Amino acid sequence: MNQPTLNPLAQPLNLRWQSGFSALGSDFLTELRPTPLPSPHWVGTSADVAQLLGLPAQWAQSDEALQAFTGNQLLAGSQPLASVYSGHQFGVWAGQLGDGRAILLGETAAGYEIQLKGAGRTPYSRMGDGRAVLRSSIREFLCSEAMHGLGIPTSRALCITGSPASVRREEIETAAVVTRVAPSFVRFGHFEHFAANDLEPQLRALADYVIDRYHPECRSTEATGPWGGNAYAALLHSVSERTAHLMAQWQAVGFCHGVMNTDNMSILGLTLDYGPFQFLDAFVPGHICNHSDHHGRYAYNRQPNIAYWNLFCLAQALLPLIEEQDTALAALESYKTVFPSAFMGQMRKKLGLTQTRAEDEALVENLLQLLARNAVDYTIFWRRLSHAVANGQYEPVRDLFADRPAWDAWLLSYSELLALDNQALAGDLMLKSNPKYVLRNHLGEQAIRAAKAGDFSELATLQRLLERPFEEHPGHEAYADFPPDWASSISISCSS
Ligand code: AMP
Ligand code: MG
Repeated sequence: MNQPTLNPLAQPLNLRWQSGFSALGSDFLTELRPTPLPSPHWVGTSADVAQLLGLPAQWAQSDEALQAFTGNQLLAGSQPLASVYSGHQFGVWAGQLGDGRAILLGETAAGYEIQLKGAGRTPYSRMGDGRAVLRSSIREFLCSEAMHGLGIPTSRALCITGSPASVRREEIETAAVVTRVAPSFVRFGHFEHFAANDLEPQLRALADYVIDRYHPECRSTEATGPWGGNAYAALLHSVSERTAHLMAQWQAVGFCHGVMNTDNMSILGLTLDYGPFQFLDAFVPGHICNHSDHHGRYAYNRQPNIAYWNLFCLAQALLPLIEEQDTALAALESYKTVFPSAFMGQMRKKLGLTQTRAEDEALVENLLQLLARNAVDYTIFWRRLSHAVANGQYEPVRDLFADRPAWDAWLLSYSELLALDNQALAGDLMLKSNPKYVLRNHLGEQAIRAAKAGDFSELATLQRLLERPFEEHPGHEAYADFPPDWASSISISCSS
C-alpha cells in the first residue's frame, strides 16, 4: 500500500502490551523516548505483519500509526527502551555497543517485540546520529519480508516511514524509520556484554529470561540427559542447532549477510540486522557483498564457519554459567554435524530428491563446483532446473553452462538418482523449493531510486513478488531475469 490517505475515523491501534525484556531492569537497558522526525509519510507497509500483530484493518490510514511508527507519539502502554550489548566486530572485541538507533516500544501481549530502527540517539549511539537513511531502510524492509517469504527465520518489518529530515552519510540523504518485529531482539552480544564485565548475576538473569521465554525445553533437561540438568549448556546447544539450520538455509538460497558480527547474531536463530546483504547473482563461492569487508571475513562460503566462530564466543560468554569447559564444547559440537546435514537436506529439496543416498553428497559437491566454474546465475539455474525436471526440457539449463560436456555428465548422474526417487513429484517439490524471485541488489536499487524520487510503487511491486517468491506472477518475468550489467557496479557498504 502506498501513501494511504489519512482517515480521521480510522480505528485506534489498541495494541496490548506485556512486560518482557523491560522487566530485566536498568542494568540491561535505558528507558527513553524516540526522537521525533518532521513531516512523516508512509513509504511501505506489510499487511502480513499487521495481521500478525492483530492491527485493525485500515491501520495504516490512521495518523496515530504514522506518528507512532515514526517515533513522534507514544502508543498507549508502550514503555520504550534501548538495550545494551557488546560484541566482536570483524573478529575483534569491540566492547560496548547497544541499540544505538533502535528503540524497543515494548512487547505485545501476543509476544512480539516492536522496535523502531532509526528513531534517534540513545546512550549507546557512540558517534552515530541514531538515524537510518531511506535507502538502507528499504533494503531492510524488503529483505525481512523476502526472507520470510522464502521460509527463512528472520525479524519482520511492519512498515517504513520517511521524513524530509536530512541525514549525513557519504552524501546527504533523508531519514526513515523501519518498524521491526520479532519475538526477541536478544543477540549473542547481550551475553558477551555481561560476561566481559564480570556481571555474573546479570548474565544469569539474562540466560534465565531467554530460557524461560524462548527455549523452555532447556529447563526440562534431565539430570541423566546429555546436559546433566545444565540448562545453560542446553541453551547453548539449542542456539547452536538453530544457527546451524539458519546457515543451511542461507547457503542454500545464496544469501550473504555481510556483517556477521556477534552483535548481529540472534539468540533465536533469526536473520537479523540487514545491512550490506546480498543474494548471489552468479555462483561465486568467495563472493564478498560488503565493500567494507576488505579481507572477505564474511564471504558467502565462510558464513557457516563464521557462525561457528560466533557460537564459540557465545559459549565463552556462557562459560561462567555452564561451569565446565568440556560441557560447553560438547554443546557446540553438534553444529558440526547439524549444519552439513541440514544443508544436504536443503539441497536434496532443491534437487527434488526425497530419499537420502550415499551418492547425494558427491552430486551436490560436483554441482556446486560446476556452477562456480561456469559462474552460473544461482537463482536462475535452480528455477530452470525445476522447470526442466517438471517438463523434461533441459536445454534452457544447458544454455547456462559454458562447459556443456561437464553439464551433460552431471545431468546423467543426477538423472540416475532421480530415476530411483519419486520422479513424478520432483518437479513440483523443486518449484516450491527454488524461488523464482529473490531480492537481487539491482532490484532493491531500482525500488530505492524510485522511492527517492517519491514513487513507492516499485517498492510495493517488489514486495508483493518477494512475499510469494515461489509463485510465477505472470507479467513480472523481468524481476526474475539476469542482473543488468550495471548491477555489478552497485557498491553496498556498512553505511546505512
Ligand atoms: P551494525 O553494524 O549496523 O550492526 O551496527 C553496529 C553498532 O553501531 C550497533 O550498536 C548499532 O546500534 C550502532 N549504529 C549503527 N549505525 C548507527 C547510527 N547511525 N547511530 C547510532 N548508532 C548506530
Ligand atoms: Mg547490528
